[in-house]
Amino acid sequence: MILEGCPRYHGRMNTNTPSPATNFIRNLVTDDLAHGRTGGRLATRFPPEPNGYLHIGHAKSICLNFGLARDFGGVCHMRFDDTNPAKEETEFVDSILDTVRWLGFDWGDHLYYASDYFERCYGYAAKLIEDGKAFVDQLSAEEIRAYRGNLTEPGRESPWRNRPVSESLDLFRRMRAGEFRDGQLVLRARIDMASPNLNLRDPALYRIRHVPHWRTGTTWCIYPMYDYAHAVSDAEERITHSLCTLEFEDHRPLYDWVVENTPVPGRPHQYEFSRLNLSYTLMSKRKLLELVQEGHVRGWDDPRMPTLVGLRRRGYTPEAIRLFCERIGISKADSVIELGVLEDCLRSDLNERSHRRVAVLDPVRLVLENFPEDRSEECLAPNHPHHPEWGQRSLRLTRELVIERDDFMEVPAKGFFRLSPGKSVRLRYAYVVTCTRFDTDPVSGKVTTVYATYDPETRSGTPGADAVKVKGNIHWLSTTEAPEVEVRLYERLFLTPNPAVEADYRPLLNPESVRVVAARVEPGLIGALSGEAYQFERTGYFIRDAVDSSPGHPVFNRAVTLRDTWARS
Ligand code: ATP
Ligand code: MG
Repeated sequence: MILEGCPRYHGRMNTNTPSPATNFIRNLVTDDLAHGRTGGRLATRFPPEPNGYLHIGHAKSICLNFGLARDFGGVCHMRFDDTNPAKEETEFVDSILDTVRWLGFDWGDHLYYASDYFERCYGYAAKLIEDGKAFVDQLSAEEIRAYRGNLTEPGRESPWRNRPVSESLDLFRRMRAGEFRDGQLVLRARIDMASPNLNLRDPALYRIRHVPHWRTGTTWCIYPMYDYAHAVSDAEERITHSLCTLEFEDHRPLYDWVVENTPVPGRPHQYEFSRLNLSYTLMSKRKLLELVQEGHVRGWDDPRMPTLVGLRRRGYTPEAIRLFCERIGISKADSVIELGVLEDCLRSDLNERSHRRVAVLDPVRLVLENFPEDRSEECLAPNHPHHPEWGQRSLRLTRELVIERDDFMEVPAKGFFRLSPGKSVRLRYAYVVTCTRFDTDPVSGKVTTVYATYDPETRSGTPGADAVKVKGNIHWLSTTEAPEVEVRLYERLFLTPNPAVEADYRPLLNPESVRVVAARVEPGLIGALSGEAYQFERTGYFIRDAVDSSPGHPVFNRAVTLRDTWARS
């Protein structure tokens, strides 16, 4: 029974959104604004490619970009980098927008698509040709690769590099008109085939792809390359600080070249930071897609996935994820963050906000031999130990109870202070009980029933209750008042800390990454709402599964254990 007057979860907000720690990007933004370098403006953007669901790595970028805009009075644009016609899907667009909103960020009117700039990209490319800074090449992809050289050898110039501007312009127009097949021609920047930076060795700007685009349909059969379109998009939107991950550091000279050599309206600057790597976790969208397609998980929102939809379903809150992004900070150092750091952020958020409840995950019967069969007593348990104002709920104590199987040991191991023959524990919110005997199943040898007597003088909350000292304090439920529900207990998806470095991560999948148990729970949990997290006393934080639950039949996911059990093992 849930007592009246206890505030519901939705009315309470955890205020632990952290105050931002400084980092090199915040410092340079502060400096740029102080010196008026960007006209006093700050404009950032989050530019996902809509070819998958966002993961926890994206959250780092989202918190950085939107967080800067929030803290410095700037704007952060939401922009889809949809330059690749083959791969994008609206399903991903919808999910990405929903997820960014869920994380607590708002782009206002600033929702853009790189495909909005296709016409301008084309116009600027034509201008580059007119200025002698781009040319249409007809080497094959293979030849272009061979001509490029490598880190020790300079590249060779294409024989088409010096063709007349008018010829390149004409060919570029006809590329657009659809006169050539895929790969037959390519528009290349005319920069420097001897550059030590391979990205400057006449990189491709446009390629032919006879593939309809989900937004522009069949309007185009040539598509701008990412490096070109990205720089143009940033400049068109007058982004001031274009923040990306370190692997784009070598692309920055090309980014600058595009901005400087086209008549774009803005002058964005690119800065790089290190991407998030998380132990026991894959972060590449391609591999996450494989996990889904090969059925290693049950979908993008499987609670074991590092996707934000998966984490959300698992029980992660936006506050916990923002706290995590704050704690890990921003730098240029490559590192792998312990998964435990993420889990700790969730604990510290849920510890504050979640109501306490009792669930027995692996029940075994406990009979109180001296407790009358027809009696039942109400025991009051606080909804939150530090928030008396959140009220209490009552647990019914009866002769027959269930307790956790591992709270009993036939022969107590060293340091085991819970139930075993002759030993006493406190039943939380109730009495001290002393184990008298137990039954086992003759075939399996498993314990089926534990018997105990209770001491009527030790009722919690009454004077003298603590006269009998016991070390153990266990949770319990009455067999008459403990509906059975499905509970899913998750472990790490991978057995080794860095699955991403292995040639094949599949053999490293943890076969026990989910364990489904039939738990007994407080009756009030039957009415749990999706999105409402609880601490099940002593066993972790749980949330009603948003997908597989139905009215009256909740399924619970364990979001995280109470302590970092992995760190101890
Ligand atoms: P993938 O290579 O797996 O497709 P991506 O990095 O290309 O991933 P995008 O959708 O292009 O994915 O990423 C959008 C933004 O999120 C980019 O600015 C990118 O730098 C950033 N981002 C992606 N992964 C991470 C990560 N692990 N840590 C920090 N930022 C990330
Ligand atoms: Mg990408």
